[in-house]
Amino acid sequence: MYDAVVVGGGIVGSSVGYHLARAGVETLLVDRRDAGRATTAGAGVISPGTSSRTADDDWFAFATDAVDYYPELVDRLEADGVDDTSYGRVGLIAAAVDDDELAPYEEATARIEARCEQLPNIEAIDPAAATDRVPALAEPQRAFHVLDAARVNGQVFAGALREAGRSHGLEVADGNVTGVRTRDGRVESIEVADGSRIDADRVVIAGGAWSPAFGDDLGLEIPVEPKRGQIVHLDLPDAETGSWPVLKGFRHHYVVPWPDGRLVAGATREAGSGFDPRVTAGGLHEVLGEALRLAPGLADATVIERRVGLRPVCADGVPVLGVAPDVEGAYLATGHGATGLMLGPYSGKLVADHVVEGEPIPDRVSVTRFGGDSG
Ligand SMILES: Cc1cc2nc3c(=O)[nH]c(=O)nc-3n(C[C@H](O)[C@H](O)[C@H](O)COP(=O)(O)OP(=O)(O)OC[C@H]3O[C@@H](n4cnc5c(N)ncnc54)[C@H](O)[C@@H]3O)c2cc1C
Repeated sequence: MYDAVVVGGGIVGSSVGYHLARAGVETLLVDRRDAGRATTAGAGVISPGTSSRTADDDWFAFATDAVDYYPELVDRLEADGVDDTSYGRVGLIAAAVDDDELAPYEEATARIEARCEQLPNIEAIDPAAATDRVPALAEPQRAFHVLDAARVNGQVFAGALREAGRSHGLEVADGNVTGVRTRDGRVESIEVADGSRIDADRVVIAGGAWSPAFGDDLGLEIPVEPKRGQIVHLDLPDAETGSWPVLKGFRHHYVVPWPDGRLVAGATREAGSGFDPRVTAGGLHEVLGEALRLAPGLADATVIERRVGLRPVCADGVPVLGVAPDVEGAYLATGHGATGLMLGPYSGKLVADHVVEGEPIPDRVSVTRFGGDSG
């Protein structure tokens, strides 16, 4: 018998599990570790100012809170004994290299200027200075520098949350949760694939793109779909990549640098992909083509890994958090789409606070926007 079961061990479920355990809730996290889980493939860019959603006030407020929470969370995880969370504030250079990128560049700078008070750490950078910072970069026509952007390795960070959670009593198990059983309108237990049941008062569905499978049990249509993303890991020997900022172009592609010459080039955005976590010839062609257009200096890098993930995309593009309206004790934490590494750790804290103390979920990301009352 557990106070709570969390379904899913991606960055969102791991954060829910960590925060519940930290609050003293007896919690079991169950993860099926599906091929195509998004957290394992995610690039890890943390930069709300460069998102096209910057103009959405409520989304921007939520994203700002999420980004501000990262350093505090990193400190907590370190205090809990985690050696390395992978989080680092390395900055980001957004570069318009080709003519077709100038219009989106201007749109992005207009959005940033409209928020100049909240985004004081974004400034234009001279093209030559940009290539000085990152020798592999093509000389851009225009560029700006986001001084406080960060990067995080989703797989490492989710692992850090689970490890720290264990130090607070979180239990973690591999398993396939096949259903949520209710009695008199409230959660009674979960069913696992071997037919057994685990009793619990509360269940948090953090199953990423697979979360809608629980819609019937919760009497709720969960408007989330998979959107495939393919990404390539490169090795550039002898380059000081650890000090490089993230590189972003204006065709939705980027290169995320890590120490020791590792660079992550991403990513495709394949709506309608279904649950099909394949690396395709077209996907690789797109990702490598865009990476080399932005950073021709990577042409001689070794391809060391290809990853693919299914982003859990909500129909209106923002997360789905909070209590399921018709089943007492059932909660959702999904729908983070292309920004789950940035938002997910904070979402997990909010959902845990909601479960434990009834703290409200902001309307913009609440499940109640699809009808019902969060209570
Ligand atoms: C290529 C790519 C690049 C990305 N880049 C960025 C980026 O730069 N910045 C950013 O912020 N975000 C990025 N994202 C998005 C981010 O990775 C996702 O939004 C985030 O990882 C979603 O986390 P999650 O925990 O909701 O889902 P997932 O990581 O998919 O985890 C869900 C887990 O639930 C498990 N599960 C599902 N159903 C069950 C069940 N019935 N029983 C047990 N377990 C179950 C699955 O096996 C899986 O392990 C990127 C994503 C991709 C694919």
